Amino acid sequence: MNQERAEAAVRELLLALDQDVEIEGLKDTPRRVAEMLMEQCSPKDAEIDVTFSEDKFNGMVIVKNVPFTSMCMHHLVFFTGRANVGYIPKKKVLGLSKLARLVYSCSVGLTTQECITSNVADRLYDSDGIGCLGCIVVLEAEHGCMSLRGAKAQGASTVTSEVRGVFRDVPAARQEFLSLITKDGLK
Ligand SMILES: [Zn+2]
Repeated sequence: MNQERAEAAVRELLLALDQDVEIEGLKDTPRRVAEMLMEQCSPKDAEIDVTFSEDKFNGMVIVKNVPFTSMCMHHLVFFTGRANVGYIPKKKVLGLSKLARLVYSCSVGLTTQECITSNVADRLYDSDGIGCLGCIVVLEAEHGCMSLRGAKAQGASTVTSEVRGVFRDVPAARQEFLSLITKDGLK
């Protein structure tokens, strides 16, 4: 990433919008915006191969209401919401905070909610370290590009879900997950 170039581009954008870039409030805006965008675009790796053996447990692990923020690649506007992630382990479980870290690492960059949802599901399901029987990921978010501009649909939320393994094949597993998260998960 090139901070100098990003700052010059933001300054150019402000000029194109007929803004006086020398006034106090706008003088440092190109630097601030460039830093904000570079922070959003910096990859954050989540190590999800650290597992613990769990021979007796045969159930479902769910982490609910994990907050996340990302930036819509179509409008460069932030969107923010909550993720609910469930999986059925096969003798190995993941440290619980790793699921939150996984959501965080998948929400960096310029993305879409659909893309984050699939990436979380794929990384969880494809991880050799966990070898889970299946996973389910449900995200609910409010998008600035929908609530602040265009349709001005404030309060409207977007829900996306992805299923892998047993959650795709066994409706009862999906049902159990949904009944456990809807209690105070999704509105
Ligand atoms: Zn958008």
